[in-house]
Amino acid sequence: MSALTNFDALIVGAGYAGAVAARRLAEDGGKKVLVLERRDHVGGNAYDCLDGAGVLIHQYGPHIFHTNDRRVFDYLSRFTKWRRYQHRVIANLPRDNPEVVPAHKKTDGRFFFPVPFNLDSLKNAFGSSEGERLGRKLLDAYPAQSQVTILELRQNPDPEIAAIADYVYEHVFVHYTMKQWGQTPEEIDPSTTARVPVRLSQDNRYFQDAYQGMPLEGYTPMFEKMLDHPGITVELGADALNRLEPADGVIRLDGETFSGPVIYTGQADELFGFRFGPLPYRTLDFGFKTLPQDYFQTHGTVNYTVDRDFTRITEFKHLTGQKLPGITTIMEEYSRACTGAEGETPYYAIINPENNALYAKYARLAAQYPNLHLLGRLAEYKYYNMDAIAARALALTDEML
Ligand code: FAD
Ligand code: UDP
Repeated sequence: MSALTNFDALIVGAGYAGAVAARRLAEDGGKKVLVLERRDHVGGNAYDCLDGAGVLIHQYGPHIFHTNDRRVFDYLSRFTKWRRYQHRVIANLPRDNPEVVPAHKKTDGRFFFPVPFNLDSLKNAFGSSEGERLGRKLLDAYPAQSQVTILELRQNPDPEIAAIADYVYEHVFVHYTMKQWGQTPEEIDPSTTARVPVRLSQDNRYFQDAYQGMPLEGYTPMFEKMLDHPGITVELGADALNRLEPADGVIRLDGETFSGPVIYTGQADELFGFRFGPLPYRTLDFGFKTLPQDYFQTHGTVNYTVDRDFTRITEFKHLTGQKLPGITTIMEEYSRACTGAEGETPYYAIINPENNALYAKYARLAAQYPNLHLLGRLAEYKYYNMDAIAARALALTDEML
């Protein structure tokens, strides 16, 4: 345990928020920074490692880097080279009418189309010429847009477009969203389904950002390099809540007042002993399987948009480009509500007015501590991508410096 008097700043958590902030305060601010990380590794949910079979896996779900923010991309590029990778996803679902498919085209009664649903998906779903005709109709209906959200599409009064909207809703969104959130697309925050729009083009990439890729050696080495600075001390397996006590506007660490900046990237409700009640989260159970074959599926991620209990299967070798003949590891994702049980990881904030109001109580309490900053996907109770968190950490440290 490090003597507190040696440090100017304290950071809780070594994910994107904590690691970027630590590096900036140490390197650009000349501060001595203590980073406390509860897990036995850095990287937060972006952590990756070799599994027992030597396959590079993402322990907490598939992470693909993408951003339009040049500053974020340049900043991270100091700590890693990139493998060029554009994520492509297909839906895997049962055919509506398996009996009409000629025997030689049968794929166990299942079929596939690109997600986000696009003009090619339309042809897969409705047949080539009908799909093309409907595609032209969509383009005419939305001449100035490159994409449309499913909720917007469902408002269209034209009967044929309404039929397309119903098809996409049924075959892409409603069942997947029920599995992921336990709620329908109408019940969840509209920005969530808007992440996966209906594309009015044939662009079948999952993301369209200017900068996309995977850290060449993996995420964990990138984080290790970022945190490797003489001004930074990282303690792993160190739960800050065993040592940190916020009370009456003052933060105590190991019983002593700490008046330097404290950047906290864990759950806001946990920091304050859940005093207003727990913030609701979704958690994930991951089913890893290592198989004795080169590849299991054609794409990095396959979404099971209609049936199955899991939402999607990711095969890491597609993402990482790892060459490893005869062996591959896949991961199924099962979503469920957090129960608050010991060891459960809160992955997704459940954004709605009621939960936002509960979060606002914690944020107001945090604001009573002049040296406390809540930063990150957990601490801010938001659905942020990696690049957004890196951008938030850069912006906060800009202010602090
Ligand atoms: P985290 O990564 O959660 O880091 C917080 C850290 O704080 C953790 O290491 C935690 O152990 C530590 N901590 C918490 N409490 C304490 C405590 N009391 N004491 C000490 N340490 C503590 N984003 C993308 O851009 N692309 C993707 O493809 C993508 N895929 C995703 C897939 C899944 C399944 C999930 C859940 C998220 C995905 N994300 C993706 C989002 C990405 O994971 C987050 O944006 C990013 O991890 C947020 O970083 P963070 O530092 O805010 O939080
Ligand atoms: N979604 C869906 N079907 C899909 C993909 C996404 O219904 O095939 C919806 C679902 O509600 C999901 C949201 O769109 O939670 C956002 O999907 P995204 O892939 O961005 O989620 P993440 O990768 O962040 O878990």
